[in-house]
Amino acid sequence: MLEDKNQQKTSLAELGEFGLINHITQYFKLNHTSSIKGVGDDAAVLDASEKQTLVTTDLLIEGVHFDLSYMPLKHLGYKAVMVNLSDVYAMNGTAEQITVSIAVSNRFPLEAIEELYAGIQLACNTYKVDLIGGDTTSSTKGMLISVTAIGKADKADVVYRNGAKETDLIVVSGDLGAAYLGLQVLEREKQVFKVDPNNQPDLDNYTYLIERQLKPEARKDVIGLLKELEVKPTAMIDISDGLSSELFHICTQSKVGCKIYEDKLPLDPQVISTCEEFELDSTMVALSGGEDYELLFTVPIADFDKIKGNPNFSIIGHVTEENQGLNLVTRANQEIELKAQGWNALKNE
Ligand code: ADP
Ligand code: MG
Repeated sequence: MLEDKNQQKTSLAELGEFGLINHITQYFKLNHTSSIKGVGDDAAVLDASEKQTLVTTDLLIEGVHFDLSYMPLKHLGYKAVMVNLSDVYAMNGTAEQITVSIAVSNRFPLEAIEELYAGIQLACNTYKVDLIGGDTTSSTKGMLISVTAIGKADKADVVYRNGAKETDLIVVSGDLGAAYLGLQVLEREKQVFKVDPNNQPDLDNYTYLIERQLKPEARKDVIGLLKELEVKPTAMIDISDGLSSELFHICTQSKVGCKIYEDKLPLDPQVISTCEEFELDSTMVALSGGEDYELLFTVPIADFDKIKGNPNFSIIGHVTEENQGLNLVTRANQEIELKAQGWNALKNE
């Protein structure tokens, strides 16, 4: 976990917009030769060289995408960068720059913004990306944060969602469902806290789940690993809305169907025990829980030997003909049709 915020309060009005921008960007250094000009001019300047450029943006809104009552600002900053880097890696590219735009109400002191940027900086340092610009403005209520990530890849390396072929293997990195359960645990503790603020929660049984929710890591390592293994996926996507929904994107765009196997879904032991406690079906959570930020990809069956047995990867099924649809083979060997539900679908049950 990242550290706690301090308690000092400096009003943003005191600093002014330019003072604030200088303050928050002064500790960021540019490391990539492709970053010609970062913060400080009307636009940043990048050297695209002969590669293809990847650009992706996410907008996060307080009360919709994050809840500051259990999301420390430093984690929010870190996660806002992760969700974007994850999209660049999902194209099989390297992320090199980000821009960060924020809107904050006067409820936030400078120290809050410093916390946010401490998380952004930690992400930049860990993942070797340069902060090259952004925008800063006020909001009437709450906080908004938008991050854009810029990356690059050789033309031949870019992996789209639409390249999956019949008989390809379907592979997922890491494990599924933990971030969704982490959110459930945090929501429950928030309710408990409302009733009894003196109650000290014992979260020992949920550390992995909470970490996955509050401090997700984008799978840059997987991109390196695939290169080492000399595997180029035929299609790839990152799991932000849940496995089912991402499978739908790949299958729709590739014009194929798929068959995945319930007993192959990678689950952490904490996911299994917490599902029992919350009376949730762990398969449902793996399929529809969001925010795992793992990579889902398809590879030619000829790559089976390179992928199998690798602790980072689980082969969960294979690609079928389009008219077969999307199916889950249960532990009881029954085939059921997959529904394209994002993680919100779980909430409405
Ligand atoms: P402009 O008036 O041209 O929009 P700004 O005063 O908003 O310029 O920004 C000045 C410089 O600071 C630009 O390089 C911009 O990209 C950068 N910047 C502004 N806000 C942020 C932020 N929140 N994080 C990082 N860089 C920022
Ligand atoms: Mg501006």
